[in-house]
Amino acid sequence: MRVRNWGRTVAIQPTVYAEPTNEEEIVRWVQQAAKKKHTLRVIGAGHSWPPLADTKGILLRLDRMQGLISVSPTQHTATLWAGTRLYRALPLLWKEGFSLSNQGDIDRQSIAGAFSTGTHGTGKAFGILATQAVHYRFVDGEGRIHDVYADTQPALFRALQVSLGLLGVITQVTLRVEPRFYLRLTKKLYPLEEALQRSEEWLERYRHFEFFWFPYSEKAAVKLSEKSTEAGQVSFLRRWFIDALWENGAFWAVNKFAQFLPSASPALCRFAGRSMSEEVRVDKAYRIFASPRWVRFREMEYGVPAAAGPEVLREIRRWIEKHQPAVSFPIEYRYVRGDDIPLSPAYGEDRVFIAVHAYYRMPYAEFFRGIEEIFQAYGGRPHWGKMHTASAEYIAQQYPQLSTFLALQAQYDSHGVFRTPYLQALLWGERISAGA
Ligand SMILES: Cc1cc2nc3c(=O)[nH]c(=O)nc-3n(C[C@H](O)[C@H](O)[C@H](O)COP(=O)(O)OP(=O)(O)OC[C@H]3O[C@@H](n4cnc5c(N)ncnc54)[C@H](O)[C@@H]3O)c2cc1C
Repeated sequence: MRVRNWGRTVAIQPTVYAEPTNEEEIVRWVQQAAKKKHTLRVIGAGHSWPPLADTKGILLRLDRMQGLISVSPTQHTATLWAGTRLYRALPLLWKEGFSLSNQGDIDRQSIAGAFSTGTHGTGKAFGILATQAVHYRFVDGEGRIHDVYADTQPALFRALQVSLGLLGVITQVTLRVEPRFYLRLTKKLYPLEEALQRSEEWLERYRHFEFFWFPYSEKAAVKLSEKSTEAGQVSFLRRWFIDALWENGAFWAVNKFAQFLPSASPALCRFAGRSMSEEVRVDKAYRIFASPRWVRFREMEYGVPAAAGPEVLREIRRWIEKHQPAVSFPIEYRYVRGDDIPLSPAYGEDRVFIAVHAYYRMPYAEFFRGIEEIFQAYGGRPHWGKMHTASAEYIAQQYPQLSTFLALQAQYDSHGVFRTPYLQALLWGERISAGA
């Protein structure tokens, strides 16, 4: 059995692959892993680039533990099986009269996978997606089942919010939801410098703000969304055939061209930047938040202190103009509210998240390395689910609560069932040869 991730950067070859259907089976797999000194990992939708779910031992996928368990209309909460893919959960919640307050760019992830890496959307008032959680149920490294609530076990709860699967197998998540709502999205092209200068104003005025800037071009596509009092719906035909098929198809062609003629990348970027459509649309919130991503790519994203965001992007621009990398993907700029979650990249303060991408068939290492130096010079923290080369030393400097997290990890995983060589090197700074 070989399990590949979406980005084609990891191929996992576990000794055992299983899709449990209930918690008792998970408990048995964890106990077996401990007994046989195997590591055990869970893979969600496989949408992370690093080998977070890699194991030579037992790999579990919770695809058969999906769905809405319950909704509390009075408390505005919903409990989901941890393997539920967001794109399945969101229409179910809508039918019950609810929406998630915020989402990322895509909805393919599992709820536990998205939360466990600090996945985020954008907006001044919104933290990483896991800040919407109010309860976790999980199986720890000894096969014990725990129900953890924010108010009764705050330290463990916060550690679970971004845990990289290191505390145990999450089986259920309860989230805060809000009455379902429509969003009005305005997408408009602005000169990059204007987008940077007006970012504060837009962050104050709009519920969600982000932009995409095509390297080498002058223009940034700014996306501003706010709640709409009117209902609206973009037709199925428009969404799938005009937007998704046409936009992804045209973008694929641009990247194929760049793959075979890398020197044309700057011209292609300028062309793609100019061709980005401007529009206003109203739709169900979950359809405005997420878009289909059919062109495969690699991505690195860091969260830098919010005040430094514009300067970091200007520096990235200077680096690109100086080094002229063959890049044909836009750079994304988002805003995330600070939190108190030990492993959250937004721990302690608001952060601007800047993401660079490369078509998956094109070289990326030199480009990413150059940009990563800039991110790190500003004290950026890498998105756990995206590519980076941050050392354990760097991670320890950037995460003041790392030791708190590691102490809880040792407590709930005393046999080291969830600690793989990749994670051991990333968080403990130790290379181990056994137990993979
Ligand atoms: C095209 C694309 C677009 C993206 N857009 C965004 C975006 O807009 N914003 C953003 O922040 N990120 C984004 N990401 C990153 C993505 O959200 C994260 O990598 C996320 O973790 C992927 O979720 P997954 O279900 O695929 O989890 P996986 O990648 O499969 O797993 C991630 C981690 O979660 C752990 N895990 C999974 N399930 C469980 C469980 N039940 N219990 C315990 N641990 C578990 C795994 O062991 C692993 O450590 C994007 C990725 C892609 C490929």
